[in-house]
Amino acid sequence: MKRFFLFDSHLRSKVEFAPEFENEARIYVCGPTVYDDSHLGHARSAISFDLLRRVLTALGYKVTFARNITDIDDKILNKMAQTGGSLAEITDFYADRYESDLNALGVLPPTIEPKATAHIPQMIDLIDKLLKNGAAYQTPNGDIYFDVTKYPQYGSLSGETQEDTQARVSMEQKRGSRDFALWKAAKESDRVGYDSPYGKGRPGWHLECSAMAQTHLFRSGAKFACDIHGGGSDLFFPHHENEAAQTCCGYENALAKHWMHNGFVRIDGRKMSKSLNNSFFVKDALNIFQGEALRFYLMSVHYRAGLNYNYGDLNASKKRLDRVYRLKKRVDTNAAEAEPLFKEELIDALRDDLNISIALAAIDEMIARANDVLDKNPKDKAAKAAFGGNLKLVCDLLGVGAQDPYEWFQWGIDALDKQTIEALIAERALAKANKDYALADEIRARLNAIGVSVMDLAERAVWEKI
Ligand SMILES: [Zn+2]
Repeated sequence: MKRFFLFDSHLRSKVEFAPEFENEARIYVCGPTVYDDSHLGHARSAISFDLLRRVLTALGYKVTFARNITDIDDKILNKMAQTGGSLAEITDFYADRYESDLNALGVLPPTIEPKATAHIPQMIDLIDKLLKNGAAYQTPNGDIYFDVTKYPQYGSLSGETQEDTQARVSMEQKRGSRDFALWKAAKESDRVGYDSPYGKGRPGWHLECSAMAQTHLFRSGAKFACDIHGGGSDLFFPHHENEAAQTCCGYENALAKHWMHNGFVRIDGRKMSKSLNNSFFVKDALNIFQGEALRFYLMSVHYRAGLNYNYGDLNASKKRLDRVYRLKKRVDTNAAEAEPLFKEELIDALRDDLNISIALAAIDEMIARANDVLDKNPKDKAAKAAFGGNLKLVCDLLGVGAQDPYEWFQWGIDALDKQTIEALIAERALAKANKDYALADEIRARLNAIGVSVMDLAERAVWEKI
């Protein structure tokens, strides 16, 4: 098996991936809080870790990939108050939307997708452990907090020593400003609450992942609940710091051997925010571009670097992907075997902390070479098979190039227009069969005028949007 190197954000350096169990990779990635549509930051995180998973799989690891759904949180309760919907109505709706966005982006479904509300007993069990060993305390109003002074390493994971600026909890109740809620006691007005030995309430957000990673990925005797814990860099502190502290204090093991974080997305040079309206949500980008084009763009910048989302770069990236599909039209798409040298080049780039720039350069170079060879010998079967195998490998690793190449170029044309176009193409075929070349040419010109180009293959004519 080839070695994989990753930038471990805890160690702040590139290290060799060393899973606890041979040839296995247990990955836990923090998923969405389902109270709204997913935005480009969610998409980038999901795509980054999907790439990681595909590369580890290609290297021969048996990957178990867990990504949670946070379906209980203050933000969801606020949405319930705004809309009048029930918790299940809101969370099911947005969990479905998240799933369909990720499907459109070619992100593979996780092996395990635990929901927070289905793990309340495991969370209570972890709180019990923390109360017992003195790492947690209950306030007079019934909330339970983690006491960060009981975990001397607190802050060492993220290197963050500052106060938690995101904490919205008042200081009246808790002992230290960085202490965080493990359990929030239900208020009179709360429509949701779970029974617990500490009264009705709900779990704190940070607690969820520790309990779920332990439940689904920990194996007896292991030092870590998982091999890689990932998420967006905005989660490093306080979320991941808190998760790590709880796990270390509550269980016999630590949470993760390696930590990976993807970089921020900015939109046209501005910080991500809902006020950017229709350039913020994945669903809006999917109205303008195919999911695969958006995926290719979001993965084209190294996952740790910042990405400045803008239409121009997205469009350029789509054109780069068009070249994959243009080649796909020329090769044997049933071929399975890539050229050994190309395979080595691509995998070597990706196993070096997912070096996408080198991987994409290798793909560009391969496409140029393939077009050269096929221009000289369009019927070269061996070449068609080799390049077809290369595209299959690109598809397995990057998750792009899976679609029918003709349909790829027809995207964005509605069904009615397609019918008209296909009727004209049929008319032109008839004219050609009748040797009425003047009429055939006229129809071609009409199609060109509406932005459609027609190509005659041996057995049929095909078309694409210009
Ligand atoms: Zn988490």
